[in-house]
Amino acid sequence: MEFLNYAIDLVAVLLLALGIKGLSKVRSARSANQLAAVAMALAVIGLLFSYLGTPSFSGQAWIWIIVGSLVGGVLGAITAQRVPMTSMPETVALFNGCGGMSSLLVALAAALFPGTLDDGTLVAVVSIVISVFVGSITFTGSIVAMAKLQGWLSTPPWMQSKVRHLVNIALAVVCLVAAIKLIGSDGSSQGALWLLVIASGLLGVGVTLPIGGADMPVVISLLNSYSGVAAAAAGFVVGSQLLIVAGAMVGAAGLILTQVMCDGMNRSLVSVLFGGALGAGASTAGGGGEYTNITSCSVEECALTLEAAERVVIVPGYGLAVAQAQHTLREVTRSLEAAGIQVDYAIHPVAGRMPGHMNVLLAEADVPYEQLKEMDVINPDFPATDVVLVLGANDVVNPQAKNDPNSPLYGMPVLDVQQARTVFVVKRGMSAGYSGIKNDLFELANTSMVFGDAKKVLGDLLGELKELGVGKK
Ligand code: NAP
Repeated sequence: MEFLNYAIDLVAVLLLALGIKGLSKVRSARSANQLAAVAMALAVIGLLFSYLGTPSFSGQAWIWIIVGSLVGGVLGAITAQRVPMTSMPETVALFNGCGGMSSLLVALAAALFPGTLDDGTLVAVVSIVISVFVGSITFTGSIVAMAKLQGWLSTPPWMQSKVRHLVNIALAVVCLVAAIKLIGSDGSSQGALWLLVIASGLLGVGVTLPIGGADMPVVISLLNSYSGVAAAAAGFVVGSQLLIVAGAMVGAAGLILTQVMCDGMNRSLVSVLFGGALGAGASTAGGGGEYTNITSCSVEECALTLEAAERVVIVPGYGLAVAQAQHTLREVTRSLEAAGIQVDYAIHPVAGRMPGHMNVLLAEADVPYEQLKEMDVINPDFPATDVVLVLGANDVVNPQAKNDPNSPLYGMPVLDVQQARTVFVVKRGMSAGYSGIKNDLFELANTSMVFGDAKKVLGDLLGELKELGVGKK
């Protein structure tokens, strides 16, 4: 029986590692996700096997675990089916919160009901402390993040002042005192345990509440990493190697993703967590100002230029996701391809509101993976591109990031679309993107604005291309 347990754990860990690795490539992401889900199912089955025959494990416990897994699985499946792509950050936050809460509950069970789980040793008590502390922060922080993104919560004025740092430091000190007391009592002091739960929960709220809505995806990625750390600590509490390895992998992956997002936005993690300076519409300094030289054109002119092109690059952005225009876009690009025009999609690492946002959006519309080109791959190709179609993207194509040292965007890697022969920018008006600053691209001689909702413009464009006979054999 023990050998079977180890075998199941080993297979589950391998599948999980392969799943996380596969998520880094668009082509393999879908199957990688399924692999990771199978790993989790195996982990639950392995757990049931490992408790078979142990005296503390009754038939009732079996029923609880099976019913819990079924209810959780069904709720997860329904949520995943229903959630729109633009609400993905909120969903990830909610799932992270559930992870944090699970680790917190496991640690509480170990502390409140000694004897049922591995306990007594210094390692077990320290693990309980870490699991309660990180799990509680992850739970409350993730729920606040979700509520802020949904617009259910806003930051109270005093939280925007420096007072919040003092409050958070005071809460961190209370957590430290409670942790020392809990360890000193070999895990038996229930007063210290509950103090730790409450203080770390409040700390999660205090750290997350002041953060601007637009910076929230970075914080959610960080909380995802925390949920991994909490799970790994819970693994030490219950003596599950599988949970330790899986938690460590999630913790490391979340941390790497957080770093990638910060690099893509040219922000430091410290400025995201403690500064809250650059949020949606927060800054118009450096590179701000009015537009004086805008050229706009009709959908018909855009269609005529596309008809004459040999190479077209599509740049999707947040606005494309808001408009849910991916399917109409796919119809447009099918017509162009049928006319022998080469079409590629330029994917900026932080286009949209979550890493991979654009990949998932385009995959939904059956865009072939090989046409999705990462920024570093596509940037050298822009000088040889006839037409770039920027769809609801703004910051990720702002040349200020390379040309204007005073711009808040300076240093952020961007797509060099201005090097193409002609650039069409589809957006509803002249509003700024996430950074809140002016975009110099819009005033360049080779740029024309096509104003309107992305879905409507693409629908009209499709009609014009049909009228011109583009793509008809
Ligand atoms: P963006 O800079 O936020 O710009 C989106 C543009 O879409 C807006 O200027 C808006 O202009 C337009 N738009 C909105 N709804 C539209 C609609 N229905 N039809 C047509 N256009 C519409 O988006 P982005 O270029 O994708 O850049 C993403 C930004 O988010 C970056 O600054 C990035 O750093 C930040 N961010 C990304 C992540 C991530 O991980 N991906 C995380 C946090 C923050 P109008 O209102 O005039 O139409």
